[in-house]
Amino acid sequence: MKVGIVGAGMVGSSAGFALALNGTASQLVLVDQDENLARAQAQDIAHAVPFASSTIVESGGYGALDGADVVIIAAGVSQKPGESRLDLLARNAAVFQDVITRIMQVAPDTILLIASNPVDIMTQIATQISRLPSVRVIGSGTILDTARFRWLLGRHLGISPRSVHAYVLGEHGDSEVLAWSNARAGSVAIDDFAAQVSAPLTEEIRAEIDQGVRRAAYTIIDGKGATYYGIGAGLARIVQAIATDEQAVLSVSVVSDVLGVNDVACSLPRIIGAQGVVAELMPDLNADETAGLKASAALLRQTIDALEP
Ligand code: ADP
Repeated sequence: MKVGIVGAGMVGSSAGFALALNGTASQLVLVDQDENLARAQAQDIAHAVPFASSTIVESGGYGALDGADVVIIAAGVSQKPGESRLDLLARNAAVFQDVITRIMQVAPDTILLIASNPVDIMTQIATQISRLPSVRVIGSGTILDTARFRWLLGRHLGISPRSVHAYVLGEHGDSEVLAWSNARAGSVAIDDFAAQVSAPLTEEIRAEIDQGVRRAAYTIIDGKGATYYGIGAGLARIVQAIATDEQAVLSVSVVSDVLGVNDVACSLPRIIGAQGVVAELMPDLNADETAGLKASAALLRQTIDALEP
């Protein structure tokens, strides 16, 4: 499988590194407006390949994305001092207009994997610009928030995060919803499991885990300026599901109708295979979670409406 990455900054290069290590891609092409950066990142990643896989890692212009099966978009500009969120969004929308038009010229049947933030809005914009079917424009959405939730639950319960089944839904951002009511460890409801291993999920512990998920990016950015390893691994996980036609259930963002909010990109558990999103699932939520998810989707829809002329 040929995978392109546009935007060879911290997130794009971390995704490339994770892909080179797991060997999912036979060919990896890094593109950035800073050609020197793309070349340097590709070389650095290529030097990890002999320890792990046989992936061919290169950099190039948009022409080098010719026929790419998946293109990850991690390009973007950062907020200027005093700039409003909507102005930043408008500038990033302009970057996407340019980047996606060029990608579509050389890889018209690709699957786009969107990582640039705010990821749900950028996924919606990418869907509009590319004119691809919405199931082929996938935002990383809450894949990382879900990973953080499982990691914290696993740590509290003393089990592998891979044995925790729990999802974060909605916006990748402040309005996201941690779906506690249907969380499971193995096949056991999370509260029952917690009682059985004498690690009850008290209100205090729940609040700590909630904040640990919700505030993770802020805490990491405080310490090191940016977050990238987690999201890089998450992007590689989505590519793996596509490459192997895995039918894996992952929480990702695509444009759809959510609880009566029409045409909005936000995260639900979705089945991912070779054609992109194969199906979407609506988990059994309690009343508060349902209201939270609906509010989260409505907030995203409002932002899109404010952006559209
Ligand atoms: P992040 O931490 O989100 O990865 P970075 O600033 O490290 O942020 O990376 C963003 C990358 O996107 C930069 O390397 C930048 O050069 C690239 N970029 C910005 N605009 C464009 C564009 N129009 N085309 C290609 N790459 C772009």
